[in-house]
Amino acid sequence: MKHLKFKFSASATDFYADSSFSQLKKIVDQANTVLITDENIFRLHGSKFKNWNCIVLRPGEEFKVQATADAVISQLIKMGADRKTMLIGVGGGVITDITGFTASVYMRGIKSGFVPTTLLAMVDASIGGKNGVDVGVYKNLVGTIRQPSFILHDLDFLDTLPPLEWENGFAEIIKHACIMDVTMFNKLEQQTIGHFRETRKELSNLIRRNTLLKTKVVRQDEFEKGERRLLNFGHTLGHALENQYELSHGQAISIGMTYACHISKQLAGFKETSRVVTVLNKYGLPTYASFDMKRVFEVFQMDKKRERNDMNFIVLQKIGKGMIRSIPLKKLQKIIAGI
Ligand code: ADP
Ligand code: ZN
Repeated sequence: MKHLKFKFSASATDFYADSSFSQLKKIVDQANTVLITDENIFRLHGSKFKNWNCIVLRPGEEFKVQATADAVISQLIKMGADRKTMLIGVGGGVITDITGFTASVYMRGIKSGFVPTTLLAMVDASIGGKNGVDVGVYKNLVGTIRQPSFILHDLDFLDTLPPLEWENGFAEIIKHACIMDVTMFNKLEQQTIGHFRETRKELSNLIRRNTLLKTKVVRQDEFEKGERRLLNFGHTLGHALENQYELSHGQAISIGMTYACHISKQLAGFKETSRVVTVLNKYGLPTYASFDMKRVFEVFQMDKKRERNDMNFIVLQKIGKGMIRSIPLKKLQKIIAGI
């Protein structure tokens, strides 16, 4: 079957762009495979799962915890899963994370594959091998970095995707445009979510382009020593807000990107905040918010990008060019308070 091969340090991932779920049985041995999905996807796309071994989890970020991984492991034991068993996560970021995490620890590691079913998971969460579970308010505090054997996209899944999930995906797409692709940013400025939803070819191109952009960054820096940190644009403040308020990931990082633009102005002379804010709003995302600074800074203390009293913060020099800046936490706090 036609596909691309992405080589990583210790492995390679086959990428089947704009493919079909029905192709899955040609890629893997059905009898030795367990699909992991959630109740929503299983209900909406039930016919696809016929003849597959399935573990169906309850949907939602609150189940992205160690207890869910333990429950999956118990079921795998009951199913007689061994080292030859392959786990395939069919779902959004929560499902691909739980699947990747469980596969990396069960019997010290079995193979995994992903069929992302949300826009966000297609362009972001399923790529790069990072997986993890949340611990209390700390997102992805426990996890591993391990590449899946394959990623397969079936855009038919997106037919049932709710509007909020489209916005979530576009938040990460706008992020990619901001840090590394001004051409894509220009295109996003001209288009709307509706246009991409209705024009399959355009949607397919957009998804493929974002997949390639993210893969390129990850391949250069699989274990996040440098360049990969750029992908955290908007995420430092975003994660702190997501934990404390009723915000989706996309909404939280959209606010995070807005504030990061203002911080970029102070630290790197960035002049295009209003363009970024306009695009975020155009794709249904919030930009400014009032929040409890004290609580946000408590979460900053546990951020994986913090090094002692400094935070590695992602700023924009211009649209399409992100940079990493180390900034004292105190200074960061002062700038945010002044926005
Ligand atoms: P992400 O992290 O990618 O945003 P989640 O795993 O948190 O995704 O899923 C978000 C929600 O969307 C969940 O309730 C999930 O069941 C639902 N979902 C995932 N894929 C689809 C789909 N293709 N159609 C409808 N709902 C979906
Ligand atoms: Zn994100």
